[in-house]
Amino acid sequence: MFIPTDALCHPCQAASLQAIARFMNPVVENFRSVLMRIEAARSRAVKPAAQTTLIAVSKFHSVDDIRPLLEAGQRHFGENRVQEAMAKWPALKAQYPDIVLHLIGPLQSNKVHEAVALFDVIQSLDRPKLLTALQNACEKQGRTPDIFVQVNTGAEPQKAGVLPDAAPGFVAEARVALGGQLKGLMCIPPVEEAPAPHFAFLQKLAGTAGLSGLSMGMSGDFEIAVRFGAGFVRVGTAIFGARDYSQA
Ligand SMILES: *Cc1c(COP(=O)(O)O)cnc(C)c1O
Repeated sequence: MFIPTDALCHPCQAASLQAIARFMNPVVENFRSVLMRIEAARSRAVKPAAQTTLIAVSKFHSVDDIRPLLEAGQRHFGENRVQEAMAKWPALKAQYPDIVLHLIGPLQSNKVHEAVALFDVIQSLDRPKLLTALQNACEKQGRTPDIFVQVNTGAEPQKAGVLPDAAPGFVAEARVALGGQLKGLMCIPPVEEAPAPHFAFLQKLAGTAGLSGLSMGMSGDFEIAVRFGAGFVRVGTAIFGARDYSQA
């Protein structure tokens, strides 16, 4: 005998079952716990940023993993590859127009037009050639994504970002070119070093340049970053679990 499923489940029961499923979703539980840890770190901090926004870093994670977070109210997301983001985000952005998508990975000049078209924040400006390309793309498309200069605070050869010595000059140059579109600085400290000195360095550099935005802190160190005034923390693993790089 065919029994329609809605005959088995009263609509309000169905709604609460959905709410329970959402609550028990491990990604959503992790997300809530990260939010609480950010708030706790802010309340302990002497001088936290006026606001600390959590960016959920969804690289290597599927749209199915992302959806429950959108349903739970999260809107800021980070991706580090333009190509991957183009496959995942246009449909989600059409459904949730208030998504704020951050590019947190290195940007090649030949991907700038696509990046400007898709992302709301570009956090990896690190060289004059890219600055010019970004300006051109923004002008052409009439879009003005927020821009952060990435600083390679550990001067690591394999890492993107302007070197510490060149940073003040480059930030000043970007400031002149971009005006208020330049929001702040971003860094990724070396994995094997204590992050605090790197966060302190970035905080000082931003202060000197008159920029208020600081994007720093990841799964292992976002609470420390909050202590140094992080306005954006970028958290992947602590929300989504380990990434499966074999999918790359
Ligand atoms: C992947 C990534 C993150 C998130 O790192 P987790 O340790 O997984 O939290 C943050 N920032 C950047 C630039 C990344 O590439």
